[in-house]
Amino acid sequence: MTLQAITDRIAAAAAAAGRPAGSIRLIAVSKLQPLDRVQAVLDQGHRCFGENYVQEAAAKWPALRDRYGPVDLHLIGPLQTNKAKQAVELFDAIHTLDRMSLAERLARLAQARGQCPTLFVQVNTGAEPQKAGVLPDQATEFLAACRGMDLAIAGLMCIPPEAEDPAPHFAMLRDLAARHGLTGLSMGMSSDFETAIAHGATHVRVGSAIFGARTPRQGAPDPGAAGDPA
Ligand SMILES: *Cc1c(COP(=O)(O)O)cnc(C)c1O
Repeated sequence: MTLQAITDRIAAAAAAAGRPAGSIRLIAVSKLQPLDRVQAVLDQGHRCFGENYVQEAAAKWPALRDRYGPVDLHLIGPLQTNKAKQAVELFDAIHTLDRMSLAERLARLAQARGQCPTLFVQVNTGAEPQKAGVLPDQATEFLAACRGMDLAIAGLMCIPPEAEDPAPHFAMLRDLAARHGLTGLSMGMSSDFETAIAHGATHVRVGSAIFGARTPRQGAPDPGAAGDPA
């Protein structure tokens, strides 16, 4: 699949949902992809990418930004608190705010820097024990705590359970966001981004459908749904 094919499918899904195509941001997920594939997508003019690992992104993107100019970079993998500083310096958005200790750390960094990446709170819509994210029934309390720290939250993010129909999870995330007055919805991957758009996704995270299959990380499973700490 090419970048153009994906943007066409996004436009078609948006039209079917009666939404402007410009209301959906395509995050091209470049984790574990060979550099030439990433450069091919940059050469086509795309400037919005997602990475799962702080280390991998830090090794890759400063040079690419020097060469290609500003690139909107999104962290979509779990973030260890001790890598928060590096993450806020590198990323324009963090989609995986999932716990109080990280919120406190990000709030302190935001205060010191006078700026903060765009933040999404990850919600574990399937209440899966191995998956990161705040539980749906803890979201209200967590969002209130973020507000109390002056931490601006742009929206919610979810990764539906792998073997389930994603639609009810997207609907749950949309309703939860609406209830809290949040407009950002980070949901939808290669296999289900059209369904996510039908449910109001504002940010879709598409990797393998654009770049092809990933090279697995040595000694680690493919960082898909569950992910492991960045
Ligand atoms: C890897 C990953 C994606 C992209 O997955 P594809 O199936 O390759 O599109 C999206 N979101 C998260 C959180 C990921 O870890």
